[in-house]
Amino acid sequence: MTTIAERYAALQEQIAQAAARAGRRPEAITLVAVTKTWPAAVVVAAYQAGMRHFGENRPEELAAKRPEVEARLGRDSGITWHLIGPVQSRKSDLAADYADVFHALDRLKIARRLSERLQENGRGNLPVFLEVNVSGEAAKAGLECSRWEEEPAQRRALQEVATAVAGLPGLQPLGLMTMAPWQVEEATIRSVFRRTKALAEWLQAAVPQAGWSALSMGMTDDFVSAIEEGATHIRVGRALFGPRSDEE
Ligand SMILES: *Cc1c(COP(=O)(O)O)cnc(C)c1O
Repeated sequence: MTTIAERYAALQEQIAQAAARAGRRPEAITLVAVTKTWPAAVVVAAYQAGMRHFGENRPEELAAKRPEVEARLGRDSGITWHLIGPVQSRKSDLAADYADVFHALDRLKIARRLSERLQENGRGNLPVFLEVNVSGEAAKAGLECSRWEEEPAQRRALQEVATAVAGLPGLQPLGLMTMAPWQVEEATIRSVFRRTKALAEWLQAAVPQAGWSALSMGMTDDFVSAIEEGATHIRVGRALFGPRSDEE
């Protein structure tokens, strides 16, 4: 049996090597350990192995697990909780109340609801990534940006959302998040990451009143390419915790 600590060490080594190949410092990359479907005890074990950033994809699971973990480790454990999956309107209050960073903002309606709640709940600003669909896969969430280079309408739609988000109290824009397509060649995945970085650079010029320099991209199967292409946040589950029982 490989332990979480051993997998974490191996992953850190791979992150360091990918960063070195790209001439980047490993500290520039935040590893978000994705604990969705795993119980609080697994988060505690990962914490004891040294991890501090945890990712959940469903607001209700985050809202249940965070207090359990805090009951064991205290409220000032230094953990940052990342909500990495999309939020429906009726779950937006949970997201505003329990997430420290939100990676999957893709609709103005959700942005407005989060902003309202954040002005009430006293938690301060919520850093957010706009999720963009650069691969064009129909199943992917995110703002449609699959042809952003040649379609002004796609750029305009992104710019409108980004401008509105930058003006909403309680939300702090960080950058763009994307998901690579499934089961395609490495070159295709890499091009999605590269195009997402180029889109973030375009957005920084188009909506300069907010920062958009962070890039949340890369999971267990593709984090090496993502780091080489500029990811600042990678979201890794299976490489740390093994296959999830309700999937695969
Ligand atoms: C589950 C999930 C991940 C992690 O996936 P792994 O393949 O387990 O590394 C990353 N991002 C999002 C949005 C997810 O839902």
